[in-house]
This record gives sequence, C-alpha cells and structure tokens, in this order.
Amino acid sequence: MNQTPTKTDKLHFVVQEHRATRLHWDFRLEMDGALVSWALPKGPCTDPSVKRLAVRVADHNYDYKDFEGVITGDQYGAGKVIIWDEGFYEPVNLPAGASSLHDNWLAGGDLKFSMHGRKLKGLWALFLTAGGRFGANSWLLVKKKDEFAASGEIVQQQPRSVRSGKTVDEISEADGCIGCETWD
Ligand code: MN
Repeated sequence: MNQTPTKTDKLHFVVQEHRATRLHWDFRLEMDGALVSWALPKGPCTDPSVKRLAVRVADHNYDYKDFEGVITGDQYGAGKVIIWDEGFYEPVNLPAGASSLHDNWLAGGDLKFSMHGRKLKGLWALFLTAGGRFGANSWLLVKKKDEFAASGEIVQQQPRSVRSGKTVDEISEADGCIGCETWD
C-alpha cells in the first residue's frame, strides 16, 4: 500500500545517471507519493549562467528512487543506472494553503526549491518553457545564485554513485537488475 506523505514529511529527490541509448540524468522529485521525473541530456549544472534542458517524462513509483543496476532487454531505457545523488528538497514558492504538490505547484510550471543532497545543494529553479522539439514537456533547470553555486560540470567532477561509489560504467547485473529472468 502506498502511503501519501503529509506536508510535514521530508520530500525525497534522486538523480539517476542512466546510460541508455543516450546518456542522460533522470531528475526525480517526490510529489504526493510518486516521483515526478525529468530527463536531462547534459545533467544538472551548478553554474547559474547555464540553463539545462529537462524533458518531463513519466512519473515513476516512489520505490524506484532506490534502484541502481541494469535494465535489461531491448526496450527504450535498457542500460545501466546509478544513484548519482539523493537527499531531500523543500519547495520555496508553494502557495499558502496548498494541499497537492501536483495541482498547486507542479501545474504552475514554475518550481523553486532548496536541495539538500550529497552533491546538489542550495536554491534551484525548474520551469516550463513549452517550446522547442519537446513541446509541452520542455522545462529548464537552473541553479540560483547562492553559496552553493559553482563553475564547472559537477556530473564530470563527481561522477560516482553516492550509494556504491561506482561509476555508471562499473555497474553490472550483480548490482541489481530490472528485467532479468533468473538469478542462477
Ligand atoms: Mn532514463
């Protein structure tokens, strides 16, 4: 049974590096008991002058935040996954009296939040642009200016899993597997 968190619960986030047909980072924010998800072709960037494309993709089940391993098969998404970062986040522009993060925050297409991860920290913004080749699913992720802003590419500077210490290329089916038929 899923339990819908109350507003006083900490909200989890996870960023999973995913080496599928194309390398990308899946940025997932817990909202109302599910993981609202965006795929970032270049990953997050801590430089406030850099806006990163974030394509909204299907919500995932809450438990998927703990997956690190290999997705087998030929389907889109097959490939290796690491938990690149994880922690908690806090919405900072949630309307007073809001009862649903989906209806009262996400639907507005303008998310400002504070991140408390191992790698990603401080104030970030994620906003709908509704343009470009991904149409209504096109969002941009940008770091806001604060003491956690920094130049450079954090996904390259800190490439390892915060759970296992492995890079995405070091992951094997022994680390976990979705789609594997047997474990003999
Ligand atoms: Mn993915």
